[in-house]
Amino acid sequence: MGRVALVTGGSRGIGAAIAKKLKEDGCDVAATYGGNDEAAAAFTAETGIKTYKWSVGDYEACKAGVAQIEADLGPVDILVNNAGITRDAPFHRMTPEQWHQVIDTNLTGVFNMTHNVWGGMRERKFGRIVTISSINGQKGQFAQANYSASKAGDIGFTKSLAQEGARAGITVNIVAPGYINTEMMSTIPEKVMNEVILPQIPVGRLGEAEEIARCVAFLASDDAGFVTGSTLSANGGQYLT
Ligand code: NDP
Repeated sequence: MGRVALVTGGSRGIGAAIAKKLKEDGCDVAATYGGNDEAAAAFTAETGIKTYKWSVGDYEACKAGVAQIEADLGPVDILVNNAGITRDAPFHRMTPEQWHQVIDTNLTGVFNMTHNVWGGMRERKFGRIVTISSINGQKGQFAQANYSASKAGDIGFTKSLAQEGARAGITVNIVAPGYINTEMMSTIPEKVMNEVILPQIPVGRLGEAEEIARCVAFLASDDAGFVTGSTLSANGGQYLT
């Protein structure tokens, strides 16, 4: 039996690539999603990975969802906090709703999920928590005060938990992607992509979801036991920390 891995937002984009990679590496994988049943069904049909629907922003739903996955697959060894949203607006036009939606999903969602696997990992003296932050949590971004705050918050959360988990065999790390070729990017006009975004990326291209998945797979592996509290930037050289 492989490790049991739970990937939030694992039905599409980067999360789907992570779920597939962990399965390839021998894990028993569960993927969650927020509401897009069609994408989740297509993902399960393609990969055989079962999907579970609830909002990571809802603590009680996370508790029930984790319990269901543990009943189906066994105790969660690896949690990948990947679910995330954007609600961009320049700050003078950002609504409290846009602020709260993003914080609730991207930051409180990470608390909700991690809190519901943490006790079991402590008891079993093994755990891997990998959270997907963003380059924009490291450097800030125009019209993303909510998103950048949430993703920077994930980094602080991770550094604190790394200290708390160390003696219990739990590592806690961040992968911080730059611009990745997913649906989140498809809304960007071609002119902006070619004239503004690509020139900022020294390697001259967007990243691929599979490249992020390979970073996550390393941090989630048994081999990465000495790596904790770290932020692995995967951004084509766009922002050097
Ligand atoms: P996508 O929009 O392609 O997929 C998002 C996934 O998260 C979907 O499975 C979605 O479910 C799920 N999700 C959204 N909200 C919730 C919620 N409240 N509860 C549970 N699941 C939810 O995103 P990406 O693959 O582009 O991004 C994945 C992560 O990577 C995010 O955290 C994002 O911030 C981060 N990131 C992405 C970058 C990029 O260039 N794409 C760059 C840097 C970071 P459903 O399908 O049901 O909506």
